[in-house]
Amino acid sequence: MKKKITALCLFFVIILSESMLNAQYLHIEKKNPLIEEIVNRVSYEKMVEMHDMICSFETRHTFSDTVSDTRGTGAARRWMYNTLKDFSRESGGRLRVYMDTFDQPLTGRLARAKEKFGVEKWRMVNVVAVLPGKTDDLRFIVNGHYDTRTDSGLDEVNTNPGANDDATGVIASMELARVLSNYEFEHTLMFVAFDSEENGLLGANHMAETAVNEKWEIGGVLGDDMIGNIAGGNGITDDSGVRVFSQGPEDSKSRHLARYISYTGEPYVPSLEIKHIFRLDRFGRGGDHSAFVRRGFAGVRFTELNEHFGHQHGLNNDTIEFMSREYMFRVTKMQAAVMSSLGMAPKPVEMQRPFRDRSDYSTVIRWKHDTLENDISGFKIFIRETDNGYWQESVDAGKVEKKMIRTRRGENEMYEFKLYYRSVDDYIFGVAAYDNDGNVSLISTYDPPVRNR
Ligand SMILES: [Zn+2]
Repeated sequence: MKKKITALCLFFVIILSESMLNAQYLHIEKKNPLIEEIVNRVSYEKMVEMHDMICSFETRHTFSDTVSDTRGTGAARRWMYNTLKDFSRESGGRLRVYMDTFDQPLTGRLARAKEKFGVEKWRMVNVVAVLPGKTDDLRFIVNGHYDTRTDSGLDEVNTNPGANDDATGVIASMELARVLSNYEFEHTLMFVAFDSEENGLLGANHMAETAVNEKWEIGGVLGDDMIGNIAGGNGITDDSGVRVFSQGPEDSKSRHLARYISYTGEPYVPSLEIKHIFRLDRFGRGGDHSAFVRRGFAGVRFTELNEHFGHQHGLNNDTIEFMSREYMFRVTKMQAAVMSSLGMAPKPVEMQRPFRDRSDYSTVIRWKHDTLENDISGFKIFIRETDNGYWQESVDAGKVEKKMIRTRRGENEMYEFKLYYRSVDDYIFGVAAYDNDGNVSLISTYDPPVRNR
């Protein structure tokens, strides 16, 4: 772990803190040996080899060369597609690999492209690998974007290999496809390299739109965008953590997903801490996860702790020498743990409104859950104070029996657990299901309707 601050030659520079990292988040109690095995299969050598290759295409600008086999976006995506096909073959044909193509009208902010290239539409291509779930089609997506840019958004000629932005995210997703395709998961996992993030999240918007139209059940999107820079332009070098951005409000689906990442991911990669940022993204900047979040899906963004603007979006300034592939490797390992947990764990529960039992002051927590009973080993109750953004404790409720409960909405099959000494007024409660191997589902809460009167 490296953590150092280079002195800045300025008067009165006050360094407030050595590191942004300080929180101690709640973690799973026991690691799953199978997930440990998966994490250990993520290969630094393989990632470096693939990262060298994707950077060798010099530019992957959306409007760059599509014909050459050595330079430009066409060569890059054919290489990604063929490599993912190889991974599928190596895993016994378990990955479904395809190019998700669409013709983007060159209107709005792309009007200048229409002028420059003299065409109405442009063929855009996401490269996708799907690992179908054993039980259902609840999906979890991990992605990067493969397009690059220089200082001009419409420079399709000059070299900038986007070694960090965002070859890192693409290679992380590809390595996860390679490793995870050797295992079976309950739910469906998708590994995606989006096109044209730099022109307005076009590839991601296309897929998110497809997801809405085809009614995909998406449990979460992990967007990787720049997970390779450790030397910030602010003079701080720090590779001890990674930022995870999540849109609120406090118990939004995205926030639940973010908390799950520190809960299940940190124990498997102790050298990397999650720094939660409770925002959709950085100020004035966007990322592919937003395309999903805007359409009501859970999505977060992974980004290095300190950015270096001198090594982004310029003329050949985002190159391998300025980044740390060891850091990219560790972020990928953590995502292997998180994606595996998401893929193996039961579906989240549907929490009902908690209430006070007036006879004994306990809090009654109820939830519905539709997974086959014999897959569920038990449930956990999560607790935090209302002014705390993070889960503080969990209580094992064990194997709770389902029963018929009469409410104002009629009779319903659900689960019920009584919690003492935790007033319903003073805490936020969450519930998760866990299976026989201890894999814990995403944590659900009851979100009260907002009433201002
Ligand atoms: Zn990017």
